[in-house]
Amino acid sequence: MIPTRIPLAVPTTGRAEQDALRDALDSGWVAPVGPHLGRFEEALAERTGRARAVAVSSGTAALHLQLLAAGVGSGDVVLCPTLTFVATANAIRYTGAEPLLVDCGSDGCLDPGLVEDTLDRLAQQGRPAAAVMPVDVYGRIADHERIGVAADRHGATLLVDAAESLGSARGGRPAGSDGRAAGLSFNGNKIITTSSGGAVVTDDEDLADRVRHLATQAREPVPHYLHVDLGYNYRLSNLLAALGLAQLARLEEFLAARRGHRERYRRLVGSIPGLSILGEDDGWLSAASATDTGRPEVEDNCWMTVLVLDDALAAAAGEESAASLAAHLGGTLARAGIETRPLFTPLHTQPLYAATTDAPGQHALTGRAEDLFDRCLVVPSSPASSARDIDEVCERIATALESTGALQGAGDPVHALERTR
Ligand SMILES: *Cc1c(COP(=O)(O)O)cnc(C)c1O
Repeated sequence: MIPTRIPLAVPTTGRAEQDALRDALDSGWVAPVGPHLGRFEEALAERTGRARAVAVSSGTAALHLQLLAAGVGSGDVVLCPTLTFVATANAIRYTGAEPLLVDCGSDGCLDPGLVEDTLDRLAQQGRPAAAVMPVDVYGRIADHERIGVAADRHGATLLVDAAESLGSARGGRPAGSDGRAAGLSFNGNKIITTSSGGAVVTDDEDLADRVRHLATQAREPVPHYLHVDLGYNYRLSNLLAALGLAQLARLEEFLAARRGHRERYRRLVGSIPGLSILGEDDGWLSAASATDTGRPEVEDNCWMTVLVLDDALAAAAGEESAASLAAHLGGTLARAGIETRPLFTPLHTQPLYAATTDAPGQHALTGRAEDLFDRCLVVPSSPASSARDIDEVCERIATALESTGALQGAGDPVHALERTR
């Protein structure tokens, strides 16, 4: 085993986090709830432009509770992407509902046209969807506006999985601000971390109260232990909320580091034809350039940078497919102690979800997610990585491609990259 020198995504913690935890311990608020929890929730609501936030023990718990609080349950159909982390679909299934998996567009997020068609199809079959749960895949905010209009037309609730997008914005609207509610995650590899944690953010006071109730064993507000509803032990602890407050105060710092890394990867893809960044192949660059294209202004948190390899590059490298080139590059980087990862395995190909393709829940697939899965490579983006680390990743990719002969006629990108350092 070669030790990892440049990890894919690791949390950044330091003095501020240590001080925050000590402060919470010293204040005596170790027992589950306490003042840090309320302050963390206020800060989260403010950052996401919402009236309320309810902090819970994981992003998965946030998704589960927002579905339950919105009334989703047994026998319902909920649309979600096939290209996502398994927690999205699992949360739907926890409620007794069935996830209907929908394919993505070229940016990796839910394809809005396909959502419209699928909602129409379900309505015609007399089994309208109860909810739609788009995911802001790898930090990029999905087209909630168009998806929301379609959902409204069919009486389906828009609930967003914003686990990966804290700090992003689209059309000036911050991540988490769309839909009846949105779920955030503060897992170890996310944009901020509480080691494990999550939150539901919403403008709906009743929904927020309901989430909070369900997260605390649905204990009724009376002295004796009275329970009417089936609840969960999902509340975030006060200690972890203190950690979350310290992390949230550093969000802009983390965003700047990740965006700096993205700039370096842009330089790499700019010098190598056939290489692009997922979500940036159609002019959706930074906020400044995106408005010129007439597309909504997108500010990406750059949580993960995903390289997309095209067939011509694979052929020029003497590989039989983009998938084999991606595997070759991943292997070369691994031998240098650089961690990479494939894209999320599309859920419809997972044993857990492959068996649920029966009508009327038939999944809406175009092959796009599978195609992206074959040709993508997720590269390191931790704030803890230095600019030099990312330059090294870029140079190793360029050198590996050069040694296959794939870069003939592309100038001399390896030296061009070195010169721009
Ligand atoms: C991380 C993640 C989750 C789950 O969050 P946890 O805090 O790990 O439970 C859900 N959806 C997506 C898209 C995620 O990336």
